[in-house]
Amino acid sequence: MVSVGELYRECSTEMSVSGIVDAEFDTLCIFQDCLGDKNPLFRPLEAVHADTEKRIRSMVARRISGEPLQYILGEWEFWGYPFKVGEGVLIPRPDTETLIDDVIRLCRENKLAAPRIIDLCSGSGCIAVTLKKELPSADVAAVELSQKALGYLRQNAELNDADINIVAGDVLSRELAESLGSFDIIVSNPPYLTAEEMNNLQTEVRREPEMALAGGNDGLDFYRALTPLWKKALRSGGWLCYEFGMGQHDEIGNILAGNGFVNINFSRDLGGIVRTVCAQKQEENNG
Ligand code: GLN
Repeated sequence: MVSVGELYRECSTEMSVSGIVDAEFDTLCIFQDCLGDKNPLFRPLEAVHADTEKRIRSMVARRISGEPLQYILGEWEFWGYPFKVGEGVLIPRPDTETLIDDVIRLCRENKLAAPRIIDLCSGSGCIAVTLKKELPSADVAAVELSQKALGYLRQNAELNDADINIVAGDVLSRELAESLGSFDIIVSNPPYLTAEEMNNLQTEVRREPEMALAGGNDGLDFYRALTPLWKKALRSGGWLCYEFGMGQHDEIGNILAGNGFVNINFSRDLGGIVRTVCAQKQEENNG
């Protein structure tokens, strides 16, 4: 029987020579998952059960074939909460935690005790679920179109015991935008990759749903469509918060200003990249 240490060395070497960049990290995650142990390498001489070895080897083979680690594990962490993921749903990225930071700060600074929040293009639900967990008095809705993603979104709300309103529908539909009432905060991480970026996707990202990634030629299609459409669903003085791609901030700022938004503030992600924006719908002057 093979030992934990031997099997680890064999698998991480195999991954590494196959060009997997984080071979040791990925192998460790697979071992943690299959052995149910946070520190499997602390007991390198322990024998690995034949069934477990088989499971580990099959997960390593999937990883070598280019499948994202997160899909293989079936679960990934975002803001400290677990999210089920798999084929057909975008994997939560740490960059998106900037958006959570923004919304929590907005609620604190503006003393929004029980805000109505809606997350557009919700995917796995990482934004909506996390906001509900962090702001328990908030009324949180999540809109998603993809049936596959909706399956994960429902599972993730349940897994995290987050009571959110899940809406199956198209964020580009005028009827939908006009049917949900008015919100204090609208948040979205829409698809924003450019056509050129879509042609040069990393192997792993190619396995993620195109509809969660492709934002048209310049990546900005959703911002141009969502901003005027959902502005109507924002209360006067309410906030629209977006995540976007590297280098898109000037154009996003122009789209928001062009639609009459004020107090347009950008935030950087942990990598130092300008990643999110919050903008306010002008307060109506009732004079
Ligand atoms: N951050 C993702 C990526 O770079 C894109 C997500 C999106 O388009 N919203 O792969």
